[in-house]
Amino acid sequence: MHELVGVTQDVLDQLLAIARREPELECCGLLAGREGLISVVLPARNALASATSYEIAPLELFTLFRRMRDEGLDLLGIYHSHPRGENAPSPNDIALAFYPDVAYFILSTQPNTSRPVRAFRICDGQVRELVLQSL
Ligand SMILES: [Zn+2]
Repeated sequence: MHELVGVTQDVLDQLLAIARREPELECCGLLAGREGLISVVLPARNALASATSYEIAPLELFTLFRRMRDEGLDLLGIYHSHPRGENAPSPNDIALAFYPDVAYFILSTQPNTSRPVRAFRICDGQVRELVLQSL
């Protein structure tokens, strides 16, 4: 049984555009929406400015959470890109996955990848790929 994650086509388009804007850096941010459907991209700055890891600064995270609360949005996902290698969770991504209920989106900026956007549930070190249902 595959678990689905609902996401608008507009969000998928935005994510790829963001990832390709700075293909040498991991981009990152939050994904929000209502009733389980991801409809809003909340880009954040990669505080590490790295091609192999990402971190959202605590103050920026706080601002994004306040914006979601003010707009009645739920946190449904967290995204980042992998400028190098495939877009599957790295050992670090698994170790640092603190939100078991969100979908971890990983974007590829490689030109010839068949699935530039993939999403995973990461819980207690276990990774399950989610099926994207774009609306
Ligand atoms: Zn990663």
